[in-house]
Amino acid sequence: DKLRALLLERITDVFDHPNPGVVFKDIAPLLADPDAFGPLVDVLARFCTAVGADKVAGLEARGFILAAPVALRAGLGFVPIRKAGKLPGPTLTQRYDLEYGSAEVEIQRSAFAPGERVVVVDDVLATGGTVDAALGLLRRAGADVAGVAVLLELGFLAGRSRLATALGGAPLGAV
Ligand code: IMP
Repeated sequence: DKLRALLLERITDVFDHPNPGVVFKDIAPLLADPDAFGPLVDVLARFCTAVGADKVAGLEARGFILAAPVALRAGLGFVPIRKAGKLPGPTLTQRYDLEYGSAEVEIQRSAFAPGERVVVVDDVLATGGTVDAALGLLRRAGADVAGVAVLLELGFLAGRSRLATALGGAPLGAV
C-alpha cells in the first residue's frame, strides 16, 4: 500500500557497509522524515495493541529509536535490551552467534512482572539471531512473548523460520 511504498522509498541501500559485500539498509532518511516516521510509529503501535501487549522491549541501538515512541503511542511501558555491560543492577545475559564471533545482550531482572505480555521491536530482521536472543531474555525474565514487530524483514536470510521456536506461535509483523 501507500505507506509501505513511502517507507521503502525512505530506506536506502548502502553497499559494502559494515563489511565488503554487505548491502546495509539505512533507515536514517526515514527517521529524518516525520511524514514517514510518524505513520510507521502508528502502525507498529497498532500491532502492539492488537496482540494485547503490556510492554514494548527495544533492542539497542536502532530498536530504541522505534520502540520508545511506539510504546508511548500504544500507552505502554518501554524496556531496553542492551549490549552487555551497560545496564545497572541485577541483569540476565544471553550470548548469541554473529557471522564472525559472538555478542551478548542483557535485560534487567526486574524488567517485568510475571506473565507480562511483551512485544520486541527492532528496525531490521536479518538472520534473526538478535531477536532470538531477545526472546530468550524475555522468557528468562518471566515475560510472555506477545509478538515481534520490525520495520524491515530481509526475507532471504530466513530470520522468520529461525525464530519459529522462540516465537512459540506469537506473530512476527513486518511493515
Ligand atoms: P540479525 O541478528 O542477523 O537478525 O541482525 C539484526 C540486527 O542487526 C538488528 O538489530 C539490526 O539493527 C542489525 N542489522 C542487520 N542488518 C541490518 C541492515 O541492513 N540495516 C540496519 N540494521 C541491520
